[in-house]
Amino acid sequence: MRPRKTAMVLAGAAVLAASGLVAANSTAEPLAGDPPDGGPAIWEVSDLSPDEVRDLEETGFDVAEYHDGTADVIGGEAVADSLRERGLDPHFEDSLYKSVADTGVAAEGSYYGGYKTPDLHIDHLDEVAADNPELATAYDVGDSWLKTQGEGGYDIKAICLTDKQEGDCELSPDSAKPRISIVAQIHAREIATGEIAWRYMDYLVEGYGSDDRVTELLDTTEVWIVPIANPDGVDIVASGGDRPVLQRKNANDSGGECGGRFGIDLNRNHSYQWGDETTDPCAETYQGEGAASEPEVQALEGLFDKIHPDQRGEGDGEAAPADTRDVMISLHAYGEYVIVPWGYTPDTPPNDAELRELGGAIASHNGYRVGSGSETVGYTSSGTTDDYTYGVMGIASYTFEVGGQSGECGGFFPQYSCLEGDLWSTNRDALTEAGLAAGAPYGG
Ligand SMILES: [Zn+2]
Repeated sequence: MRPRKTAMVLAGAAVLAASGLVAANSTAEPLAGDPPDGGPAIWEVSDLSPDEVRDLEETGFDVAEYHDGTADVIGGEAVADSLRERGLDPHFEDSLYKSVADTGVAAEGSYYGGYKTPDLHIDHLDEVAADNPELATAYDVGDSWLKTQGEGGYDIKAICLTDKQEGDCELSPDSAKPRISIVAQIHAREIATGEIAWRYMDYLVEGYGSDDRVTELLDTTEVWIVPIANPDGVDIVASGGDRPVLQRKNANDSGGECGGRFGIDLNRNHSYQWGDETTDPCAETYQGEGAASEPEVQALEGLFDKIHPDQRGEGDGEAAPADTRDVMISLHAYGEYVIVPWGYTPDTPPNDAELRELGGAIASHNGYRVGSGSETVGYTSSGTTDDYTYGVMGIASYTFEVGGQSGECGGFFPQYSCLEGDLWSTNRDALTEAGLAAGAPYGG
């Protein structure tokens, strides 16, 4: 039982109400350019400088994406009106929710056409490990915030996949095989990412011995996957059912309820170069009270520290050596980018050329644009997962932003059937490309 569940459903409703995402029983005709159903939408706002975008974020607007001077702001009519009051000119880009088609493949207990709850993810991971003892080892690497509070919550689970030999898949950095770590749904509402992680586990265990690339990968490499890095947040998202809740952060509400927008942004809470983000607990990019203050981030950093060797010196300008091993991919949505470090500064990291070269090989599969945060999503972000694994250990680290901006397969909530198409298959091959490079991501 999860005693907070009912509270979470209510909190989810509060999120929607507070952010104007629920159409307020309006009988007025929608204005031209307004969302056809009056529901929550993606609003495009152009001619914005990075400083103006940051200001919007810190004022409490939910900025989903920003590139070439144009930001996507999420919300209902009230949000569009607030933007207009600031002298901005929001244009309706797309509805947030897609029609929930009967995909015919929806697992029991799933939501929004087939997406999986944390419980389903945890059961699945344990099942993959139990059914494939020669290939898989499951680990409990920490607790979610609610679990640390004794209020329900979840374990953070990881799985190691390889053709297991003596000493493989152990929590020690000096493994015989190189490693790739894959982290999904650290931002809870980026729902396609957990699904990609789920499918990637199945793809590897089912393809071993029959698919040449999968066999090569598991013969040579350990693949570590954390499919749900923010289970409390995913539980809130899933509580919306066919109207998933927009929870991005974890469930830590110690900074206040914020009209339902509580939580810490886990991808701003990592300990490397932490501290340049907003201190407003209600902002979507709230960095938290301290570096790695959140149990979910402690779980990830604890795992990384145990399985990846530290291969880089202390100085930010010090390159990791050419024979560095291991790769980390953090899966996010959306925008169709493969993002390289640094996140915290527009300056380029010492391994910039090598990171971009492998990034290009990875992106040859999903067709995404390769660049730093400043070049792609358009702003700097401190305390990110990839800055931690590159900055602390020197391993080749990337953030994928999966999916496009609009259409049935775009935005935070793509139709579940999109996972039958490119969204899954191209990212699957991109992950395998990255994994096969884990022995020498910088060329040797
Ligand atoms: Zn994200």
